[in-house]
Amino acid sequence: MNYTKSQQLYTKGLENLVGSVNSPVRAFASVGGNPLFIKKAKGSKIIDVDGNSYIDMVLSYGPMILGHKHKKVQKAIVKALQNGYSFGASTKSEITLAKIVCNSFSGMDKVRFVNSGTEAVLSAIRLARAYTGKNKIIKFSGCYHGHQDALLVAAGSGLATLSLPGSKGVPEGAVKNTLIANYNDIDSVKKHFENHDDIAGIIIEPVAGNMGVVTPKNNFLQQLKELANSQGALLILDEVMTGYRSKFGGAQDLFDVEADITCLGKVIGGGFPVGAYGARNEIMEMVAPLGGMYQAGTLSGNPIAMAAGIATLTTLKKQNPYERFNEIAANIASYLLEAAQKFDVALSVNKFGSMINPFFTQKEITNFEEAQTADTKKFATFFWEMIKNGVFIPPSQFEAWFLSSAIGEKDLNKIKKAIYKSMEAVANN
Ligand SMILES: *Cc1c(COP(=O)(O)O)cnc(C)c1O
Repeated sequence: MNYTKSQQLYTKGLENLVGSVNSPVRAFASVGGNPLFIKKAKGSKIIDVDGNSYIDMVLSYGPMILGHKHKKVQKAIVKALQNGYSFGASTKSEITLAKIVCNSFSGMDKVRFVNSGTEAVLSAIRLARAYTGKNKIIKFSGCYHGHQDALLVAAGSGLATLSLPGSKGVPEGAVKNTLIANYNDIDSVKKHFENHDDIAGIIIEPVAGNMGVVTPKNNFLQQLKELANSQGALLILDEVMTGYRSKFGGAQDLFDVEADITCLGKVIGGGFPVGAYGARNEIMEMVAPLGGMYQAGTLSGNPIAMAAGIATLTTLKKQNPYERFNEIAANIASYLLEAAQKFDVALSVNKFGSMINPFFTQKEITNFEEAQTADTKKFATFFWEMIKNGVFIPPSQFEAWFLSSAIGEKDLNKIKKAIYKSMEAVANN
């Protein structure tokens, strides 16, 4: 494969863009080499500026669950464009998307749309503090909740990939109310409640996707819910990644736990910048203009983004691809494990719904500390071989691969071949 044009653009971009990217996860920091520049995408495939075609398992880090440029979504966007792009006033489309979203979460009466997952979470944290009158927030090591100051500690993939413990420029004061606990370790949470009486909420990814995929064990989420509510704190489930990925609605439903506040993003915008936070009436009524918690946005509820979200979710509901996602993920997991066995590579695989990823270690991965034992050098070799064999996966050991409903049998065969070739390359390196 030839990457000449990507390389030229990367070099050109370095002059006026930081690292030639607008999000560090797009840099190929931990796998070496330069990032690919994309020209276009359709269905299950994405094509770079050199004309190389890949099966896309990055999917914009989650949003493109129907694959790229789905007919229904495309049509809805074009139709919405005819009426103008932004009004700074309400549109019917906001009500439509709000209804779809609220109907898919049992604990959500009202929702507020924002422009990113980061914004959704920072607003949810403010809301938890407003509602409880308390200040401290418990977060889990390895979970990522966007780049707001207060939660940018032990924050998973992006930082882990760059080997950064946290971020410079975050003042001590901004994290003094942040308490860190370990995923799947209820005692580490209990300890915080024993030592602090000022805890407003616990925030967690119901299935972690930002340290690689890590699922909750032994009713962990239910235990968190009980613990939080018994102490007058709220459970905030950050479903920015998991929302609509494992079922129509939230992962919380599959684990039989109801969030006090739910955060959404990614899929609900269908590729446009949309985030959301929602909760029961009594909590959401704290938010301005009904209540005293201020949160606003010039482009929030943007009509084009709403149209893309509505078309994506209604199509998704009709398609109901979730059983198929489970089958495809199971297939990919078995390719990975069989290839690893064949070439004698230490590997474990975690998956949940349409999220899956291999860890280059024999260990079962249940938290961030364990995830970090994975061999990132082996991953780098694997990554480039996947690229050479036409499968675009995230350039990090600690990111989930995503499935789209556009993936077909041929694609799956190509993925299988690429996995075997890439595992062989790891073994021979
Ligand atoms: C991606 C992500 C965010 C941040 O969303 P942005 O739209 O990138 O700001 C927050 N939480 C989780 C769980 C995410 O996966």
